[in-house]
Amino acid sequence: MIACPSPKCSSPNVADLPHYWQSLPAESPLKDRYAPPARPKVSYWAALAAVAVGILVLVEGGVLLGLLLVVGGAGWVAVVYKAVQWAEAQRAAWEQSHVCLACTGTF
Ligand SMILES: [Zn+2]
Repeated sequence: MIACPSPKCSSPNVADLPHYWQSLPAESPLKDRYAPPARPKVSYWAALAAVAVGILVLVEGGVLLGLLLVVGGAGWVAVVYKAVQWAEAQRAAWEQSHVCLACTGTF
């Protein structure tokens, strides 16, 4: 049995955060507070398109611009990848969280 880790509370009345959040009515002010972290609105496509255009420019002889696009696009892909990884970790942590029904703390 899990209890609230707060020394002032230590109530055994805790719930699974995702289940608790899903059971909240949409108009509840707690719905936002306990909401899962948002997934980033990022896309690999634009970054990959920049790399593809860079390769095309390189083939056409535009070495400097081509390299700039390829390197920039690759860096962009890396940034997108990091953002997605971070968001997934946040999401996984949220899915394993609990909420204390006595003091409303999450842990
Ligand atoms: Zn508590």
